[in-house]
Amino acid sequence: MADIVSPDVRSRMMSGIRARNTKPEMLLRRALHARGLRFRLHRKELPGKPDLVFPKWRAVVFVHGCFWHGHDCPLYREPGTRTEFWRAKIETNRRNDVRAEALLREAGWRVATVWECAMRGKPGAPEHIAARVGDWLDSQQDAMEVRG
Ligand SMILES: [Zn+2]
Repeated sequence: MADIVSPDVRSRMMSGIRARNTKPEMLLRRALHARGLRFRLHRKELPGKPDLVFPKWRAVVFVHGCFWHGHDCPLYREPGTRTEFWRAKIETNRRNDVRAEALLREAGWRVATVWECAMRGKPGAPEHIAARVGDWLDSQQDAMEVRG
């Protein structure tokens, strides 16, 4: 059976480092920038260190990798080795995500989550999602989720 992840992803998994500046995030950042939307990155003082922060709109965007965050979608497959280890790790990530969103909302932040599966293998998706984020920023909605 073929490996489910590339050597690059595997080495990150092995080292236990959370992916930063992943490709879907970079593509979305570029598309948002092209729309003239300005944001800050990975603000450590905010719960969950949101990937993108829009201070002017008091809004944040998380770009979640479907594996790391245990998304209920076809991109998530349980690893065939060290299954319990990964299951526990991903469960921790999910709990942290829920907690971070609750803390942000309590503090008056609006929270959007963009899942990797909304973009992976879909040309044009970053631009489309950037437009949705732009509309959301200007809306009254507290939360938004974009998934594949
Ligand atoms: Zn997904």
